[in-house]
Amino acid sequence: MNDRRNVIVTGSTSGIGLGIARAFCAQGMNVALNGFGDADDIEHIRAGLAQEFSVDVRYLRADMSQPSAVRGMIDEATQALGPIDVLVNNAGIQFVSPIEDFPPEKWDAIIAVDLSAAFHAIRAAIPSMKRRKSGRIINVASAHALVASPFKSAYVSAKHGVAGLTKTVALEVAEDNITVNAICPGYVLTPLVERQIPDTAKARGISEQEVVRDVLLAAQPTKRFVTVEEVAALAMFLAGEHAGSITGAIIPIDGGWTAH
Ligand code: NAD
Repeated sequence: MNDRRNVIVTGSTSGIGLGIARAFCAQGMNVALNGFGDADDIEHIRAGLAQEFSVDVRYLRADMSQPSAVRGMIDEATQALGPIDVLVNNAGIQFVSPIEDFPPEKWDAIIAVDLSAAFHAIRAAIPSMKRRKSGRIINVASAHALVASPFKSAYVSAKHGVAGLTKTVALEVAEDNITVNAICPGYVLTPLVERQIPDTAKARGISEQEVVRDVLLAAQPTKRFVTVEEVAALAMFLAGEHAGSITGAIIPIDGGWTAH
């Protein structure tokens, strides 16, 4: 494969974002990684991808909760790699709590990272895509862009917002050969999900095993976690030439969860 397009994947030091970044590298694309983590671990990931797939891989430590950092990331990635062909807004955080105890600062942080960062990144990336009449924007939303679960008020609100943002921008740039879509995974066993298991157990007064069986996978008719590789393959398809007519779509990949 030798698809030398340039890609940014936000929140790609872990989980789904890293899986998507890896899939793009395997396709021969140059990738800007972003996210938090131990500096040595991230350099190991960056250098490993660059070497394995002979592509240019950069790391940009922009904090997606800061609008100026999001804008700066788009500029830096463009300077390092060239014009951005594919933007994947994936960075996300979660917090689980009954509404009356939900800390307002957690609400603000989740809205900033899970929703506003996508707005700022898209806003900064679109002018160049429009000039070049080419671009792909993929927002990693969630099944929670379509349905709610208790105790996740900020996350569900942010992800529903991402669905609205996706549809709106898709309409605005439809004639510019730019597509904008949202991927809506059900539960994928990543650090984000692993971290919320103890909190959900506490909020519901049940054991962690019961959270996995009766809360997480209860919603998923396939009774298994969606895999990172499945989500990455969908992102690859949306970035590919045969997805040119798919835009403004809110696409579940959730083992049947939202078919309920
Ligand atoms: P994860 O915790 O493994 O990865 C999250 C990534 O975002 C990490 O790289 C982290 O460093 C980065 N990040 C967090 N805050 C950031 C910030 N302020 N600035 C920059 N980077 C930041 O989580 P994941 O499960 O891989 O989640 C990735 C995306 O997929 C999220 O948007 C999440 O909402 C969505 N999602 C996950 C699931 C699931 O079951 N895991 C399901 C549906 C949707």
